Amino acid sequence: MKKNPQTRKRMRRRQKERKKQQAAKRREDYYLRLAARYLDDPREYSMCLSKERYETKGAALAAANRRLMYDAPQLRVYNCPFCRGWHLTSKPKRL
Ligand SMILES: [Zn+2]
Repeated sequence: MKKNPQTRKRMRRRQKERKKQQAAKRREDYYLRLAARYLDDPREYSMCLSKERYETKGAALAAANRRLMYDAPQLRVYNCPFCRGWHLTSKPKRL
């Protein structure tokens, strides 16, 4: 039986939707793992609360560059697993 093209279109759309959901789930898992790692050290969380938060990486980088002009130590920008915003840190990257 030949499938109605309308139905096929709908199926494709549903598949796309499913893929999007899977990607969102993977992202969620990633953040949870990241948060779990950071939670080993509760200081990280209090840092999040006390630090300035930037909505985008670009905003954080711009702020880091502004501080460089005042002879501040080289700052690193990182994506926070708690608030999912961006913070600045002078600590080296932990892997
Ligand atoms: Zn944060």
